Amino acid sequence: MKALIADHVNKKLSLEEREEIPSIKEQDDVIVRIVCAGVCGTDISILHGKFPGKHGIVNGHEAIGDVIKVGDNVTTLQVGDRAVLQPNLFCDDCENCVKYKGINSTHCKNWSTFGIHFDGAMAEYAKFKAKV
Ligand SMILES: [Zn+2]
Ligand SMILES: [Zn+2]
Repeated sequence: MKALIADHVNKKLSLEEREEIPSIKEQDDVIVRIVCAGVCGTDISILHGKFPGKHGIVNGHEAIGDVIKVGDNVTTLQVGDRAVLQPNLFCDDCENCVKYKGINSTHCKNWSTFGIHFDGAMAEYAKFKAKV
């Protein structure tokens, strides 16, 4: 599949071939066919070294996709659903998650985000997590 890769060294996005379709590895994984993905100001800031992000991953953290596969523990989504992807992963256990429960997951002390810390949405297919 084609994917836009964040190249922080050269400060650009590059269109590359990546694995065909991501696979279910953990039972709360959800595989989606990306319908659309937006370019966020954060994406630009990462490319220009003004916001920390991982080099060489699939860019993009704001997207809509059609669900094509779900892990065995996923009960909130099924194949064929159209989903808005919530990119922030949070632990629900740290002090900030307890304090800000349901308000702002970016305050999590164990926070991570698709397309910033690991492969994101600017590809034909992407793997996300369902809250199970
Ligand atoms: Zn954003
Ligand atoms: Zn947390």
